[in-house]
Amino acid sequence: MNLKISELDFEKGNGLIPSIIQDNRSNEVLMLGYMNQDALKTTIESEKVTFFSRSKNRLWTKGETSANFLNVISISFDCDKDALLIKVIPEGPTCHKGTSSCFGEADSKGFLYKLEDIIEQKIESNDEQSYTNELFRRGINKVAQKVGEEAVEVVIEAKDDNDDLFLNESADLLYHFLILLKAKGKKLKDVEEVLQKRNE
Ligand code: AMP
Ligand code: ZN
Ligand code: ZN
Ligand code: ZN
Repeated sequence: MNLKISELDFEKGNGLIPSIIQDNRSNEVLMLGYMNQDALKTTIESEKVTFFSRSKNRLWTKGETSANFLNVISISFDCDKDALLIKVIPEGPTCHKGTSSCFGEADSKGFLYKLEDIIEQKIESNDEQSYTNELFRRGINKVAQKVGEEAVEVVIEAKDDNDDLFLNESADLLYHFLILLKAKGKKLKDVEEVLQKRNE
């Protein structure tokens, strides 16, 4: 990690620098904590986020008792070097109240992830009015066939110059693909991780 601790402005916060913790996969903001120089050094060396806890008045490695560690992916600083942004892969929920983020969940998720949740709810509640649920009940082959059809429709519209039709078929494709993922017992995040690994 090319981070020079000596260049950071710890003085402004009386030795503590506010550090935003963000999920590297979903971009969800997980929590905010403060680091002194020691905490930052420990974070870099252990690759586990370690704060200076103002209530405990000591270094605090997040997860030290719960094992819900925050594994560091990258550390960067802001324009005037008085704040840190730390991207992590969390082990379990970050908030001690049990949610993934200390700021609550849904709103920081991207819409595709919200749609994945909506699809899951329709299927798990066995909603009889729901097209999603009805398609899902027809089995994997039928769902996969729908994905194929929508993909072909995207190809057809790509050759035309009607943006509206192209975008709508693209939306159909993504939506049916999410149902296929569910039918395969996989998550959007699993696919995202494969893509991320290819870019490491
Ligand atoms: P942990 O670091 O997860 O083992 O938790 C140790 C203690 O730190 C907990 O009992 C809480 O008092 C506190 N704590 C844990 N996670 C958070 C958090 N996200 N924000 C504030 N306090 C926390
Ligand atoms: Zn700043
Ligand atoms: Zn919390
Ligand atoms: Zn379509």
